[in-house]
Amino acid sequence: MTSPLLQTYARADLSFEKGEGPWLIGRDGERYLDFGAGIAVNALGHAHPHLVKALTEQAAKLWHTSNLYQIPEGERLAKRLVENTFADVVFFSNSGAEANEAAIKMARKYHASKGHPERFRIITFEGAFHGRTLATIAAGGQAKYLEGFGPKVEGFDQVPFDNLEALKAAIGPETAAIMIEPIQGEGGIRPVPNPFMRELRGLCDAHGLLLIFDEIQTGVGRTGKLFAYEWTGVTPDIMAVAKGIGGGFPMGACLATAEAASGMTVGSHGTTFGGNPLAMAVGNAVLDVILAPSFLERVERVGLLLKQRLAELKDRHPAVISDVRGLGLMMGLRTNVPNTDFIAAARAQKIILIAAGDNVTRLLPPLIISDEDVAEAMNRLDAACTAIETELKATAQRGAAE
Ligand SMILES: *Cc1c(COP(=O)(O)O)cnc(C)c1O
Repeated sequence: MTSPLLQTYARADLSFEKGEGPWLIGRDGERYLDFGAGIAVNALGHAHPHLVKALTEQAAKLWHTSNLYQIPEGERLAKRLVENTFADVVFFSNSGAEANEAAIKMARKYHASKGHPERFRIITFEGAFHGRTLATIAAGGQAKYLEGFGPKVEGFDQVPFDNLEALKAAIGPETAAIMIEPIQGEGGIRPVPNPFMRELRGLCDAHGLLLIFDEIQTGVGRTGKLFAYEWTGVTPDIMAVAKGIGGGFPMGACLATAEAASGMTVGSHGTTFGGNPLAMAVGNAVLDVILAPSFLERVERVGLLLKQRLAELKDRHPAVISDVRGLGLMMGLRTNVPNTDFIAAARAQKIILIAAGDNVTRLLPPLIISDEDVAEAMNRLDAACTAIETELKATAQRGAAE
């Protein structure tokens, strides 16, 4: 059967009918424990009553008006983001890549507005992922995403991960900013060490560069803080947010200090859909839950429990799991078998996981999971590891018999 969809995804032969909290109900009638959350998007799980209510109430009132008019829901969401972060201003987009595009344009415009249009280059890091637009594939620097799409957008200089000397050497008179994910997501759940984050801030201050954090995956409670930078002791000048902020409704945001945003004036950037009343109603509803007292402390605690349990899983199955890494509910397992095999074995046990680079499998459960959900996940992953071990033994025996 040929599909009319453009074949840019290697889709699993699996589709879902509905969701309930951390569960996905497949069209095959099976219940799957969702430890992927649509790639860190369904922060509050599926069909969260507060989000359903906010969306349906707003849907009955007003969906879209354009940014030609005041949007009070957007003012409110921006105010709440500003009150809870380093930022002074917010630009709403529809996706992560667009949030990063806003961040990149803002950094360039900042220097141009100060009389330095030659300062447009942005330093990024190997293994990064910043999106799939022409500028963000150049920022991410991954050959597999750049190939065949014409000349790479000019102005991105990539340096090795966590290498201070290489970073210092890359800073020049044309450098405008440094852009980094506090924890690389697609790159394989690679946390940037805090001392390196502090060095970044120091270098930016010393050279007049803007520091951009891509918190599209790490943000909105994923690591147990509202934003991952809160763990590092440093703040950025600009920050891109998306994924969890809409809880499944497509939206993103670019946050900035007033100084970093000072080059952006009326007409310098825009979007038709970004920040529309429907998106803003959902974004506010997501924050209602995440900013409620003790919600984030609970995420932090359940994240620690998950990490502990995963370390035990690794100890029980050293032939399968070689490393456990991550923070909060953004965890990665490095395996000795291909991550695609590990994910397939997990799926056979009805638990959904997500691949990343460096042969890592990501666990990105909804932030609302309970201790019981963690225990259930461990039972299923234990069974998946055992199935893989049985398979490995059978293969070894066949090899010995030949
Ligand atoms: C997902 C992601 C993006 C891209 O977001 P889209 O909404 O797919 O455009 C950018 N940066 C990071 C760190 C991401 O995880």
